[in-house]
Formats: sequence, structure tokens, C-alpha cells
Amino acid sequence: MVGDSLDPEDWDALRAAAHDMLEAALNKMQTASEGRVWTPLPEDIKQSLTTELPREGIGIARTQQAVQALLPYGVGNTHPRFFGWVHGAGTPGGMVADIAAAAMNANLGGRDHGAIYVEDQVVAWVRELFDFPTGSSGLVVSGTSMATVVALKVARDVKLAFANQRGGLGAVELVGYTSVQTHNCVARAFDLLGLGTDALRLIGVDENFEMDIAALKSAIAADKAAGKVPFCIVGTAGSVNVGAIDDLDAIADIAKAEDIWFHIDGAFGASLMLSESMRPRLNGITRADSLAFDFHKWWHVNYAVGFVLIRHGADHLRSFTMQAEYLAGQKRGLAAGGPWATDYGPELSRGFRALKVWTVLKEHGADKLGASINQNCELAQYLGQAVIAAPQLELCAPVALNIVCFAYKSSRADINDEIVMELQMRGIAAPSTTIINGRTVIRVCIANHRTTQADIDLTLAEILNIGLEMSN
Ligand SMILES: *Cc1c(COP(=O)(O)O)cnc(C)c1O
Repeated sequence: MVGDSLDPEDWDALRAAAHDMLEAALNKMQTASEGRVWTPLPEDIKQSLTTELPREGIGIARTQQAVQALLPYGVGNTHPRFFGWVHGAGTPGGMVADIAAAAMNANLGGRDHGAIYVEDQVVAWVRELFDFPTGSSGLVVSGTSMATVVALKVARDVKLAFANQRGGLGAVELVGYTSVQTHNCVARAFDLLGLGTDALRLIGVDENFEMDIAALKSAIAADKAAGKVPFCIVGTAGSVNVGAIDDLDAIADIAKAEDIWFHIDGAFGASLMLSESMRPRLNGITRADSLAFDFHKWWHVNYAVGFVLIRHGADHLRSFTMQAEYLAGQKRGLAAGGPWATDYGPELSRGFRALKVWTVLKEHGADKLGASINQNCELAQYLGQAVIAAPQLELCAPVALNIVCFAYKSSRADINDEIVMELQMRGIAAPSTTIINGRTVIRVCIANHRTTQADIDLTLAEILNIGLEMSN
């Protein structure tokens, strides 16, 4: 048989299509601050995306044109006035790294090849940044949700002395603790791990939206008195609603005294370690048993990549290693080395996500990433002050980091939803909404290295305009 390879018959045509695509991608990046923030996908493109399974290909040129047509219709998080949820902005360098990773097409489940050494380096850098000991372990994953599942599995297995790995959960009633401001990935992990979400106790917060430490202590005491077994406390470093950071040192003290695993959700907040001036806000983070955070948020590594760091590497390994005969290691050759990444997580085949993390750090350095984080926090303080100064607006939570929650004062109950929807539909800016103390508010999260003060000024002015328009 000849001609069955999927490589192009006409390499020149492939090169032409690839160069066009690269130009289009670079243009998109270079003009990221221009134009609308978000544009809904036009009907004709939606139509073109609902075809039957193609039996015959259309070739690289037409395929590449179809891909290029999609470029303007992203979430909008590359734009400096995207303020919704917590989304990183990506970098052009990260895009280039993704091209190289695709060219290598490496599988990082294990074995001895170049990509593995890059991921090992990323793990070592993270260990250094968070001052974790030799013997701690880490894994590049898709994001904080996956990192949380991995970390809490190790915590669960340790508390059950790994007997559950063969025998199942048994009769022990494990319980864990986090604050009411927690991200729902923690409850999802409890569900996935067979613990049930009722086993996750939601502790109240103080006026700064930080976990109420006294309430945490009483909850642990009450559970112990009732014969339950507390196995983890999940602290939050940068809560998704308002950016609050729990008192990590106080939680670490309790976890130590009670022999409970201390996990931290630092999805974006843990990135403050990159900033000399903000790092003290994370006091206690280096005492965690495990930490989950994202590179795709405040490090601006292109989606999707996060990390799980575990203090006791041996426990981490025991929780995930399952030696299969077809995966046996060797002294030399491709199957040498180990343990492999697959021994530290649920996935066997893994892509080369680590490369774009490595390149962003190599290209910019940690200090520059830290400076960008500082700038975001300064802009949030600036917006917070402007909200306080505007008689039409009300600040709804203290500005802890990079998130500003505020409301437009109006007799219309849905005014804040309406303002946010209008800003998005008009392509001006894209904040999201959240609920603070039972009330829907406008939430501006500044997690973009491209955002300037002019972007904040414009957004604020438009909020006031639309608010006035909608109130009449
Ligand atoms: C984004 C976020 C998560 C979830 O992270 P993913 O990378 O989206 O899985 C968890 N916790 C907090 C505080 C977050 O901001």
C-alpha cells in the first residue's frame, strides 16, 4: 500500500497553510487589546460546525481557513477588559511553546526522553518557590480541579493507612473542612473520592470572608465527639468570590495539633509567591501538606495547566502507583528511570503541558510575573477607591487582592445582572456577577497582564452610563 500516511502529499501546501495560520495567530495576539472583548459566535459558523462525520477530508487549506474563522470568537480573556471569573490572559511565547510541544508529540506518562527533564525542572522550581522539602513531589495537571482530586486522594488514603486501596472505604466516616467561600471543586473531589459532599463541613467566614478559626475548632471537636474521623482541612488562598486569603498559619497549627492533612486551594492566590511584596500575605502556605494551583490563571500560561504539590512524596507515590507488566521499568533505554509521572496521578498518557510553563518562566522570569500580579492588585485598589467615591455605587466586600465586588444602587432588583449582560453584549468589558450576602453584585476580577488604568476608567464610566440608562 502506498499513500496511506497522514503526512501531506504536498508539503509546500502544508507549509503555506501553516504560515498563514501562524500569521493569523500572531495577529490575534498582537491586537489582543483592540476591538470587542467578546463576540457571540455568528449563526453561519455555528451551522458550519454541525455537520455529519466527514467521510472524506477537505484538505489542509480549507481546514485551516475554517480554523482561522474561529479565532475572533474566544471567551475574550486575551482582552484587557475581560474581568469575568478568574481567567489568565495567555502569552505569545506560550503559544509558540504549544507549537513545539505539538511537533514533539511527546507522551509524558513516563520513559526517558527530553520532555521528562523539562517537567522535572518545573517540579523543582515549584518546590523551590514554595519552600517545600526534598522528598516532596509534584505533578503538572490540567488545572486546580484535578490537582484537588489528586491531593485529597492522598490525604484520604493516608488517613486510612492505604487499606482502602483494596478494601474500599469501609465503615470509617471521614470528614473534612473548608469555608463557605470555597470553590466547588472541593465538594466535587469529595464526591469523586466516594466521601460524599455531606462529609465536607462548610465553616463560616468573618467580615473579611476568611474562615472563622474558632468555628473550625468547634466543628472538629463536634465531629470527633460524634465518632467521625477528621482527615483534611482545605484552606483557601485567594477565594473565587472576593479574593480572600484564609489565616493559613492558624489553620496549619490546628491541622498539626489534630493530625489532620492541610490542603490549600491556591488556584490563583498562590501565585502571590512570585511577588516579593505580596508574598507575606501567604504566611503559612509553606506548611501545607498539599497545594493546588493554576499556571493558566495568574502566571498567564496558555490553557490548560495547573499543578499539585505534595509534601510527602512517598505517600503521593503509594497513593497512585499501580505497576502493570507492560509498564515495567528497565535499567537502560526508553524504559529506564522512574518513578514516572503516571505513578503520581490518575492519567497514563499525558501531553507536554510543562513546556509552556517552562518557557514562560525562561522568557520572562518570575520577577516579571510578580510585577504583573502587583499591577493587577494596584488597579483593583484603584477601582475600589473609585467605587467608594461614586455616589451611585457601593463596595460590597473589602478589596483583598485583585477582585472588586460592588453594586449599582437602584430600585431595580436585577440592575447588576443587566449592567453586566449589557457590558458583555456591547463588547465593552466582561465582568461577571456573584452573590455576596444574598445580593447579586458586579464582580471585576483583574487577572490580565494587559489591563491598564485606562481600561478600568472606561469600564467604570460605562457601568455608570448603563446603570443610568437601565434605571430609567
Ligand atoms: C479557578 C479556581 C479553581 C478551579 O481551577 P481550574 O483550573 O478551573 O480547575 C479552584 N479554586 C479557585 C479558588 C479558583 O479560582
